[in-house]
Amino acid sequence: MIIDCHIHCGLGNLGVVKGSGITHDDSVASMKRLVDIYQVKGIQALRDGGDISGVGIILRDISKDSGLIYRTPIRAFYKKNLYGDFLGEPLENTKDGIRKMNVLIKESPDFIKIILTGIMSFTEFGITGTMGFTKSQCTSLIDHAHQSGLSVMVHANSPEGIMMALTSGADTIEHGYGVDDDCLYAMCESGTVWVPTLAPFANIAKCSDDSPMKKFRNISKRYFRQHQEQVKKANAMGVNIALGSDSGAPLVPHGQGTLDELEYLLDCGLTEEKLESIGKRVIDFNS
Ligand SMILES: [Zn+2]
Repeated sequence: MIIDCHIHCGLGNLGVVKGSGITHDDSVASMKRLVDIYQVKGIQALRDGGDISGVGIILRDISKDSGLIYRTPIRAFYKKNLYGDFLGEPLENTKDGIRKMNVLIKESPDFIKIILTGIMSFTEFGITGTMGFTKSQCTSLIDHAHQSGLSVMVHANSPEGIMMALTSGADTIEHGYGVDDDCLYAMCESGTVWVPTLAPFANIAKCSDDSPMKKFRNISKRYFRQHQEQVKKANAMGVNIALGSDSGAPLVPHGQGTLDELEYLLDCGLTEEKLESIGKRVIDFNS
């Protein structure tokens, strides 16, 4: 069983997120095509990372009749004026966060997604931008989700970001670029699942000369190589690692992106059995 624990159904297909002029029928048709694409590739379960359109809820409805298992946070939360505007709703502070989370919960998300840091810089290697929330804000948001019976997926890069997510009670760490030994030990100890999303940089690293992403090829190679080493180390240490492709991101097409991620993880020494068992755990604690 192939389980992809990090995709964005609203990105990378028909510009659902870009919005203008997209009707409900267009979204339904687009999500139906997505279900077909995943089923043709033999992928049985998906966990969404959210987007501003909240189209994941449409895919979840459709998937009920298709046999595809689908979990969605509907929309992610990010810190106002920082990274994440295309993925969900901006939060000003803890109070605002709890209010908006309560509104979202009425729409029945399967779990909560919090964006704690930016993405890795394409111009300055290793830089990920400002942290969105303080430790106390992050803890309060995660606690509130847990008290509401929902697990929390945290987008975190850099040692500081990853450590804050871990010590605030995140259930899964998404991306985790720049992860250091302290973070890996903490993941081991807490049993937190790491979803390293190798595919975005790996696919840019091998893109063709005519790709618009060509200018990012060299820096992407560095990120990919560094991350591969950390994934190998984490796996040897016993960290729970799940497959998450970030499909919908540039050069990570739906369906094929999952198979790409699987290949990268197998190259790091993971096994399909291990990935399936962690994937099932991730999907289940989101239900
Ligand atoms: Zn993502």
